Amino acid sequence: MKIKKVPLAIALTAYGSFACGNLAATPFPMNNPEFGLVIHGGAGTISPEKITPIKRQMIEKTLSHALTSGYAILESGGTSEDAVVAAVRVLEDSPLFNAGKGAVYTFDEVHELDASLATGHDRQAGAVSGVKTVKNPIELAQQIKNNSVHVMLSGEGAQDFAQQQGIALVDNDYFDTKSRFEALKRVKEKLAKSKTISQYQANHRALEDAFKMGTVGAVALDKNGNLAAGTSTGGMTAKRFGRIGDSPIIGAGTYADKQCAVSATGHGEYFIRYQVTTDICKRFTYLQEPLEQAAQHVIFNVLDKNGGSGGVISMDSVGNIAMPYNTSGMYRGYQTANKGRFIAIFKSDK
Ligand code: ASP
Repeated sequence: MKIKKVPLAIALTAYGSFACGNLAATPFPMNNPEFGLVIHGGAGTISPEKITPIKRQMIEKTLSHALTSGYAILESGGTSEDAVVAAVRVLEDSPLFNAGKGAVYTFDEVHELDASLATGHDRQAGAVSGVKTVKNPIELAQQIKNNSVHVMLSGEGAQDFAQQQGIALVDNDYFDTKSRFEALKRVKEKLAKSKTISQYQANHRALEDAFKMGTVGAVALDKNGNLAAGTSTGGMTAKRFGRIGDSPIIGAGTYADKQCAVSATGHGEYFIRYQVTTDICKRFTYLQEPLEQAAQHVIFNVLDKNGGSGGVISMDSVGNIAMPYNTSGMYRGYQTANKGRFIAIFKSDK
């Protein structure tokens, strides 16, 4: 592994934060009695029989490590933003997940990474798409949010900005893993048999669940009652032509406002078209549905009904949590001051 640290060159000035007219805005409680974070490591088709006990143990250990890193920040009075970044960074550094090290391969056998971060109290956001050499894209999303005048940067421009910010850069093969490469080969073989566009699309849809599992994300509520959400991914195996999924799109894969924060995982094209994370928070705010009801509605009555697959993790400003998904499993967990710690993969994991 080769990590190039580049010294800070030019830091762009940050935009001043702006207040957003949120209908049900409440003053922030200091020392919120409930605080904590929720994480996911992707949703997809996995069955309890297909996952070896060792793999399961490794996944749970890494989820646990991510929770510990994020929760420690919240417990010591740190921000939800920093907790989200810390948790996502742990998952990006693990080869088990489709984000950072272990990201899936594009059709051209490289890795192109997407990530985003949103903070609810000030409605700020940073996002990055299609970067090939940024070791931790979530850190770049945070720098874009805090130190640039833009929300989303892509490709080479984003990498130049990362270099200016002194973010760790790596060669693209740092992200390589044998299992993801084998998955790419299997996908390509299958796709090569498609003679028409519709066959190609059908084959791609049939494959997607098995090969895209592992996008990571976190949502957090801090002691000041502020919410944040972040998501990071390598996207979908064999993606082509600079494809960008939902993960770096605020409102599709990641969303946070004063009342509600959501991070998504699943077939990105559907999450973009149905604006899944925004839809959940808007139902919560405007229709005043409980978080669980709003999240369930969007996953089962909107996403699922229209052929999309995946799930979300979400949290509101008093610490309610909802984690619905319409796949057979979703790597997920939470730790909060009042609810303690929970880690699960399947529906049967209570
Ligand atoms: N949503 C991601 C994408 O479409 C993939 C995933 O979450 O598994 O890029």
